Amino acid sequence: MKALCWHGKGDIRCDDVREPKLQDSRDVIIKMSACAICGSDLHLMDGYIPFMEKGDVLGHEFMGEVVDVGKDNKNLKVGDRVVVPFTICCGECEQCLKGNWSVCERSNPKPENAIKAFGYPTAGLFGYSHLTGGFAGGQAEFVRVPYADVSPIIIPNGMSDEQALFLGDIFPTGWMAALNCDIQPTDIVAIWGCGPVGQFAIKSALMLGAARVIAIDNVPERLAMAQQAGAESSISMMRMQPFRTV
Ligand SMILES: [Zn+2]
Ligand SMILES: [Zn+2]
Repeated sequence: MKALCWHGKGDIRCDDVREPKLQDSRDVIIKMSACAICGSDLHLMDGYIPFMEKGDVLGHEFMGEVVDVGKDNKNLKVGDRVVVPFTICCGECEQCLKGNWSVCERSNPKPENAIKAFGYPTAGLFGYSHLTGGFAGGQAEFVRVPYADVSPIIIPNGMSDEQALFLGDIFPTGWMAALNCDIQPTDIVAIWGCGPVGQFAIKSALMLGAARVIAIDNVPERLAMAQQAGAESSISMMRMQPFRTV
């Protein structure tokens, strides 16, 4: 199959790679119908995130059709259309039972790298380096989804790929940012950075009842989109710094 593979800093190639197979009885195999490129993929491309290996398949925002199902997976069947959230969760460990999915204690088979880099282990993530398990990602024709009876979301008929795809990462990321603010009807919410996650945070803040939302960025097209969504725009006079420690 074809897949986008990392070969080094600034070197991403469309390679022929081996198709994935079921490895565990709760796995499924997904045939991709849509995938997205995330700002986080740029951190792999520019070498900001370490522990990448040549040939690693990228992509953690994807959806598609289930084409093979492990025998113990009772939640999915061949033919289901699903969006796959990027966090791999077992659903059974102490952190999963508390709803702390991003720190599932079982889905990252080599947490020692994450402990070195972040100071704590994380869950396994698709296509996001050997810090997070080295799982092949979804910028490929097929992907293996471990613990697939926990997090994939079945998409109802009548909903297009474009309407559902962003449930895998950026919409819930923006939603959770707004939700964590405990927005009250009199609140004025300022959102710094109006890329895709910022746009979803703006929409989420308005859905959660913010009195006003002020969008801050230095890219006119982003501010125009934020205004279309109902935000008031405000251009930051500072040059915004990229996400990077010095
Ligand atoms: Zn992402
Ligand atoms: Zn878990």
